Amino acid sequence: MIERTENAGAYAELADVELAERPHVRVVLAQARDDPTILDRAPRPKALLADSPFVVAAYVNHSRWIVDCPFEGCHSAQLATPEDPRFFCAGCRNAEAEGHYLPVSFPNAKAVAAIEAVLLERPVVETRNWFPHEKVRDLQHENAERL
Ligand SMILES: [Zn+2]
Repeated sequence: MIERTENAGAYAELADVELAERPHVRVVLAQARDDPTILDRAPRPKALLADSPFVVAAYVNHSRWIVDCPFEGCHSAQLATPEDPRFFCAGCRNAEAEGHYLPVSFPNAKAVAAIEAVLLERPVVETRNWFPHEKVRDLQHENAERL
């Protein structure tokens, strides 16, 4: 399947960390194994702003939905999911957006399903890639040529 998110799951619930399934939480929890006090200092993203000037686009890389941090000099990326189209960077913590989530653009649900279905026909995970400028028919054409 196309990986959509990392799941910190029950561990995060025990640690009483909000938004347990957000990828940045997994980073914090990994650090908390060595230093439990980090949970008190962990960043809490601020609400998504309806008029956010920042919109980031998701893409598929090696069978994972990914969002690159848009902020200059950060170079971080996070796993993403169409079920929760918000971005919070574990690297810069969206400092340029004053800590607010950024909206993530995904294709519509029908297109996500079609993209994932075509990519899953590819047996090699590293070849399951999609960028927003590509159409489903482009992926199908690649499959027909190469599979
Ligand atoms: Zn960042």
